[in-house]
Amino acid sequence: MIRELHEKLVRGEITSVSLTEKYLQAIEAKDGEIGAYLTVLREQSLVEASFVDEQLRRGEKIDLLSGIPGAIKDNICVARVRATAGSKILDNYIAPYDATVIERVKRKGAVVLGKTNMDEFAMGSSTENSAYRKTKNPVDISRVPGGSSGGSAAAVAGGEAVWALGSDTGGSIRQPASFCGVVGLKPTYGRVSRFGLIAMASSLDQIGPFGESVEDVAIVFSRIAGFDKKDATTAPSGNDKPFEEYLTGDITGLSIGIPKEYFSESLDPRVRAITDKAIERFTSLGVIVKEISLPHSEYALPVYYIIMPCEVSSNLARFDGIKYGMRVNDVKDSLAHTNALLETYLDTRRVGFGTEVKRRVMLGTYALSAGYYDAYYLKAQKVRALIKQDFEEAFKQVDLIFSPTTPEPAFRFGEKGDDPLKMYLSDIYTVTANLAGVPAISFPMGTIEKGDKALPIGGQLSAKWFDEETLLRAADAFEKSLK
Ligand code: GLN
Repeated sequence: MIRELHEKLVRGEITSVSLTEKYLQAIEAKDGEIGAYLTVLREQSLVEASFVDEQLRRGEKIDLLSGIPGAIKDNICVARVRATAGSKILDNYIAPYDATVIERVKRKGAVVLGKTNMDEFAMGSSTENSAYRKTKNPVDISRVPGGSSGGSAAAVAGGEAVWALGSDTGGSIRQPASFCGVVGLKPTYGRVSRFGLIAMASSLDQIGPFGESVEDVAIVFSRIAGFDKKDATTAPSGNDKPFEEYLTGDITGLSIGIPKEYFSESLDPRVRAITDKAIERFTSLGVIVKEISLPHSEYALPVYYIIMPCEVSSNLARFDGIKYGMRVNDVKDSLAHTNALLETYLDTRRVGFGTEVKRRVMLGTYALSAGYYDAYYLKAQKVRALIKQDFEEAFKQVDLIFSPTTPEPAFRFGEKGDDPLKMYLSDIYTVTANLAGVPAISFPMGTIEKGDKALPIGGQLSAKWFDEETLLRAADAFEKSLK
């Protein structure tokens, strides 16, 4: 889609302003119902688009992403635009600078349509934890879009943006991509700068793109990836050409591993059947399919739900009513009040944070406290190393690993709200990639009929560290074979 739009722009068949207008109209028409956006940047996006049209008028060469409108998850800072991260505590927070990914896409001339809805501080799998609004799945509006990047996935799936950025700490790009029938990539840890991303769990978070096709995702990814001196965990890109140029459609001779631990009885039989068909399709494309083992998989979810809340509790300590955003209990006669400062902290956090955020801050604080640190956090870190080792062993035998992205298709609103453990199970196939740091992509692999709706299910491929090239090539070949 991006390539076709680019060609139309270059040939003068459309202008970036008219394209942006078209998306702003789509937002106006549909977003009351879908609820993908928290902020729409009407004037600003049209100004950005007019710059690209000006370049075209001057006959300048423009980038593939130039003039193409996209949407940004609300935990990624865009200079002078509100960034709530889905939380009341940041209700009045205006980002003073661009995140590195924003700086990079803007430099390429991309148009930013607005900021998308999300679970508060990216904690959740349905976007129901947003403090602001519900986002509906454009495929079936009685169902959730997934989360936490539900707004970004719904914007792309609903035709309210060409591409979008999300963040993925345990599956928050791949799971909503699976639920909404679009493509979503979680890059290798360290491939994309986290500077300007409101942190959830720093050792797991990665920013990544959504698109309608693997090529669109590759195009956006190429433009955000690479070393950033503002994020010491980023690595040099090392790639000689943009990722979209690796999509040859040819994957003969590649090997794909199927982890036997992922196919237990808890997997929905309909999802299993779609997965089996996808495996057959890979075989017919000349791929060698092998059963492999990731023996520590059963510990992935428990390890994630120790390490993630620990990092959450320390990252969210900065929201104290003093440095950013909301302040409750602004005690005027603070000198008369011995505990005024403490009360400001407590009241602000009590009012500003939602239930899920408080739950995780408490869990994390508990697990990091003296006496429990060794039993929980340290132990979890050790098991995390074993999970990473499982991937190292597996990638000695195969190039890629394949599984469904989610154990079931999109669920209905409220279905899992009362039981956080049920919600956490949505992440069973996705958290391992974050714990190990490997790149993983979700792409549509089939649908499940439910009444008059066909609910999408994503297939997930993961690859060796920094091998997005093979990852994208394989997902693209699969997608092309469906056409
Ligand atoms: N659903 C997972 C969670 O609630 C993943 C979130 C994410 O990737 N940001 O933690």
